[in-house]
Amino acid sequence: MTFNEGLQIDPNRVSGGGGPGMGGGLVLGGGALGIIALIATLLLGGDPGSVLGQFTGEGSGQQGGTTAPDHCKTGADANKYVDCRVVLTVQSLDSVWSTELPKQANRKYTDPKVTLFSGQVNTGCGRASSAVGPFYCPADQTAYFDTSFFQELKDRFGASGGPLAQEYVVAHEFGHHIQNLLGDINRAQRDPQGPESGAVRTELQADCYAGVWAYYADKLPAPGSNTPFLKPLTTNDINDGLSAASAVGDDRIQKASTGRVNPEAWTHGSSEERQKWFLSGYKTGQVKMCDTFNARDLGNPPGLK
Ligand SMILES: [Zn+2]
Repeated sequence: MTFNEGLQIDPNRVSGGGGPGMGGGLVLGGGALGIIALIATLLLGGDPGSVLGQFTGEGSGQQGGTTAPDHCKTGADANKYVDCRVVLTVQSLDSVWSTELPKQANRKYTDPKVTLFSGQVNTGCGRASSAVGPFYCPADQTAYFDTSFFQELKDRFGASGGPLAQEYVVAHEFGHHIQNLLGDINRAQRDPQGPESGAVRTELQADCYAGVWAYYADKLPAPGSNTPFLKPLTTNDINDGLSAASAVGDDRIQKASTGRVNPEAWTHGSSEERQKWFLSGYKTGQVKMCDTFNARDLGNPPGLK
């Protein structure tokens, strides 16, 4: 129950189903990898390169639906249904970043597109299946969510089922959009693996940006209203977010899949690092507290000093 009930859901903010399917033109940083892309390969003992292959298919040009699901009208629906929760979280992210990005980084915020899908979807990064989980495609500036992932996050990866666990995932993908706007997203591709790699720094920064969003989400009034999107976040809410960040940590996933931890194969950072960087953003609300690229010690983010 975190959203203020009276808020209106904008049915046009998201689209359902496939995009125009540009195919080819693969532009994928590690940051563009869906969280679950890596999970899936690690569980199967494959290598991340083979997951990238899933994106290289040719788009078929299929057009999907264009609006949010019909049952999504208000904040009360967002508290009840996970797909509505994604849409209202998106609206909250737009609101926070359109205010804070110009203020803190002197950069104009433009909305990313958001597509809800199930099964398969054609994207500017090629065709993707649900198996890759939530992801952001820099080429078409679109965040893609298969809402069945949220159930999996809980059942398979052991995150809490609380709303902030799901909202964190949405906010993390928007973090990649912010990186795209700031010109940082390609840093992942240049240095794709290892405990201090560009990929890990990119992912931890997206976690930190998710924390920045959470800082403002219960404070900034929603557009045209004097009520913030979220009710005041409680310790329990934050713990829900942290449980999700922890559930998708590389060490935890490796341990669950192979029984061993191999930092040289990390692409997203450890459970502890992911939680710490989320908190670095959340405790300060400051983009500058998310500078993972200049951090000497990724286990000691500036916002926690
Ligand atoms: Zn990511």
